[in-house]
Amino acid sequence: MDVISGRKLDKSASGLRMIPVSDTFACPFALSEPMWVSDKECTACVSCDKSFDFFNRKHHCRRCGKCFCDRCCQHVLALKRMYFVDPVRQCYECAVISKVEMEFYDKCLKILMSECEFTIKDDIQDKSFGKAKCCLSNDNRKLLHSFPRSSTSMSDSPKLIILSKIVWVNFMTDTSNTKSQKVVTCVSIKFKDAEDSAVLHQQTYESVDKMAAAPWLSSFKRAMKYLFEARGDDESSA
Ligand SMILES: [Zn+2]
Ligand SMILES: [Zn+2]
Repeated sequence: MDVISGRKLDKSASGLRMIPVSDTFACPFALSEPMWVSDKECTACVSCDKSFDFFNRKHHCRRCGKCFCDRCCQHVLALKRMYFVDPVRQCYECAVISKVEMEFYDKCLKILMSECEFTIKDDIQDKSFGKAKCCLSNDNRKLLHSFPRSSTSMSDSPKLIILSKIVWVNFMTDTSNTKSQKVVTCVSIKFKDAEDSAVLHQQTYESVDKMAAAPWLSSFKRAMKYLFEARGDDESSA
């Protein structure tokens, strides 16, 4: 086991995966592996209908678990949301989705892990914490805040948000300039307390520099889509 990441190597018919040893180390965007369609059930490729035999061998798509011929399942792509270490075989439809996700891992996560400045407010107590820099932790599990030195005491700072505790998000776009493309400028996040799940908090993050924060917020929007999708719950995200 890798002590730092809390993951261990797992080898199966699908390939090599680095899976979390417990929920504490699970990636908030992770999808569970599909059940493979049994060999008995697949006699022909589900895409082109060509029968399987000694020469036309069957291959399972690692993302959907369905059976394809070599030609219809020839995309070999990264599938980080299922913890695969190496690129794996996928069907055409799944490859399209995986390519979009690769962009999220390559670009959006890097943007989210770099700091972005916001004015942060506690919506329930109607209290402002002032300006702080915000970023996604390296393990992608928490939203961290950093304040300029000596400006705020710990008791008067925003709550650290654990992504798995988020229950609702609402993004607001800037409507002041109708000519320009709509940019996300603000996000409100409702989340459960880390210790007591009966307690709900809500914090709002308003960008200090709208244009500079736009890529961070749009990346966060995508992260939230994947978070709710990973939970099998697409409606919590507004
Ligand atoms: Zn085929
Ligand atoms: Zn597939």
